Amino acid sequence: MAWRFALALAPVASDDAREDFSDTFRPLDPGAPALPVGELSAQRGDGVFESLGVVDRHPQEVGPHLERLAASAALCDLPAPNPEQWRQAIRAAAAHAPITGEGVLKLILSRGVEHGATPTAWVTVADAADNSAVRERGIRLVTLDRGYALDVPTRAPWLLLGAKTLSYAVNMAAIREAKRRGADDALFVSSDGFLLEAPTANLILRIHGRFVTPLPAGGILHGTTQRSVFAHLERSGHDTAYEAIPVADLAKADAAWLVSSVRLAAPVTAVDGIRLAVDAPRTADLNRHLLSRRD
Ligand code: PLP
Repeated sequence: MAWRFALALAPVASDDAREDFSDTFRPLDPGAPALPVGELSAQRGDGVFESLGVVDRHPQEVGPHLERLAASAALCDLPAPNPEQWRQAIRAAAAHAPITGEGVLKLILSRGVEHGATPTAWVTVADAADNSAVRERGIRLVTLDRGYALDVPTRAPWLLLGAKTLSYAVNMAAIREAKRRGADDALFVSSDGFLLEAPTANLILRIHGRFVTPLPAGGILHGTTQRSVFAHLERSGHDTAYEAIPVADLAKADAAWLVSSVRLAAPVTAVDGIRLAVDAPRTADLNRHLLSRRD
């Protein structure tokens, strides 16, 4: 990854109402060591994060990403982030993204050093990978059992399903397993037979003209991209819905996409070796919409 910029942020109370937070962050050399060895983000993956797309230096969906950062922090009993402080840090960092084209901005909030007084926080900016081929040609998925039933998030909230924690080793292992099985990405399913999400993206299916996505309450991340895609589709008169979707309903879909902040909308060309049609005009429309967002 080509790192462009990083800044360290000293988190302040969520109700700190000062106007200018610029003296609470400082640039870091993205190539130099920055974390103490006792950092719990490195020791235990104990923290939360967000990845935002940046297009022509415009960070995308800042509000929804900050809301999700706060929701993840709450699930992990981390202090609530101050949204205005993070907003200003995002603005400062995005100024170092590519002038034209796509970048990735990451927000990281860690529990900090063991027994330390405050969380550790930092923001990074890097060039995005070129995703144009996957947006056009699409991706093959294999379903992988996540081993949890759909009601586990309410029965066992300590599993932190639905929080975007730094512990992504399981998600990365699932992608490696999908590749071993000859696919490009994984599609998690619940132990009781419902569709969930991919390790780094949400699923949208089109069934009989309606666009449906799995219920966030089933222990998946409520995606900022999926929400933006649904708002776009609703504006042009399409029906959208959140549902508990049985795996068998894949056979009813006439198109499907994985959607996420940086890859954007990747059409699904096959699931478990069963081919799915690609709606190229709709895919192009979704990616045009996603790339045109300016906020
Ligand atoms: N689900 C998981 C597990 C993810 O890690 C991500 C993004 O990284 C998503 C869904 C998609 O979320 P977003 O559209 O906000 O990027």
